[in-house]
Amino acid sequence: MRVLVVEDEASLADVIRRGLSREGFVVDVMYDGQDGLWAASESAYDVIVLDIMLPVLDGYQVIARLREAGIWTPVLMLTAVDGEHDQAEAFNLGADDYLTKPFSFVVLVARLRALIRRGAPQRPAVLTNGDLSLDPARRRVQRGVNEIALTPKEFALLTFLMMHVGEVVTKTSILDAVWDPAFDGDVNIVEVYVGYLRRKIDIPFAQASIETVRGVGYRLVEAEPA
Ligand code: CA
Repeated sequence: MRVLVVEDEASLADVIRRGLSREGFVVDVMYDGQDGLWAASESAYDVIVLDIMLPVLDGYQVIARLREAGIWTPVLMLTAVDGEHDQAEAFNLGADDYLTKPFSFVVLVARLRALIRRGAPQRPAVLTNGDLSLDPARRRVQRGVNEIALTPKEFALLTFLMMHVGEVVTKTSILDAVWDPAFDGDVNIVEVYVGYLRRKIDIPFAQASIETVRGVGYRLVEAEPA
């Protein structure tokens, strides 16, 4: 089992390396994000231990670039207890697990073994409707060959519509799926965002794929395959 450890605190990196070696892992250590990214891209590892605060590229940038490159090695992130970065953020960016420093070595080993057993996470499938495509893993939206930049909310809204292509979805169901369940603002925020989305995915391409179903909600019209 090969483990890549990316940790800039030399003494901690050394403790992890020696401990994991004793447990039978083959361990490589990199001390900054750029070297870590390079190693993870060049060699096959079963799991990666990735610190967040790293020189050159931080852990978030490393994981984002790995996933963008289609590398799905499971990643356990090491987060500091100071709360500067939160775990939710680590998961959002594609980490598979996290441990808060200082951590118990026994727990680290157990978590790594669990991640290796689980294997590389399944890359989510690309959603398509006609010439519109949305890649959840790379967070990329395209109309034909044109790449479309969406904000995170717009992206989440389009993902929801594409998962329900051809179906009428109510504003309330959109609100529940795309906004925080505790969101207690005006349901018309959905209308505002549908407007933003139309201006990005439809209007510039002379299309009208998001239909308003009066009094109910919206429907992404099913298109012929591109
Ligand atoms: Ca660090």
